[in-house]
Parts: sequence; structure tokens; C-alpha cells
Amino acid sequence: MPRKKKFIKLQCQECKRINYFTNKSGAITEEKLSLKKFCKWCKKHTVHNEKKK
Ligand SMILES: [Zn+2]
Repeated sequence: MPRKKKFIKLQCQECKRINYFTNKSGAITEEKLSLKKFCKWCKKHTVHNEKKK
């Protein structure tokens, strides 16, 4: 069985820049990720959402 590895881009919802990459292993979460992370462009913690492609 092939192992699925999805690369996920996390996009800042304020400046729309891609700041983080992560990978989901398997089908643990089918829901979209929404994380609070530090954005170096906004210079603060902002919500980062999963962006596909
Ligand atoms: Zn930002």
C-alpha cells in the first residue's frame, strides 16, 4: 500500500503569503488546517490556513 504524503502549504490570512510547509501523513485529518502561527511579514501571530496547490 503506498504511503500518502501530502504537502500542505500554510497561508497567512492577512498578507496571503505562504509561510509554512508541513506534511500530513496518512488521512488523519481531512479537515482543513487552521493554525495560529507567527508571520514574519505581519510580524505577529496570524491565522494560517491550509492552501491546496
Ligand atoms: Zn502575514
